[in-house]
Amino acid sequence: MSGTSDKVGRCAICGKPRETDAYRPFCSRRCADLDLQRWLTGGYVVPGEPVEDGEGGRFDTGEDG
Ligand SMILES: [Zn+2]
Repeated sequence: MSGTSDKVGRCAICGKPRETDAYRPFCSRRCADLDLQRWLTGGYVVPGEPVEDGEGGRFDTGEDG
């Protein structure tokens, strides 16, 4: 374990330090919205492309529903 202080996380979109946790893991609603749009527009599977299973790289917001 390293002594990395993760008290202030960084935005998953722009990489800026978050000033609030209201939009975790993003710094603002704008970045959260951007990520959502990426999901909606780039979340589809391209026909012909092999889909890898077990990616496990999805965001976990803790909310399901
Ligand atoms: Zn951001």
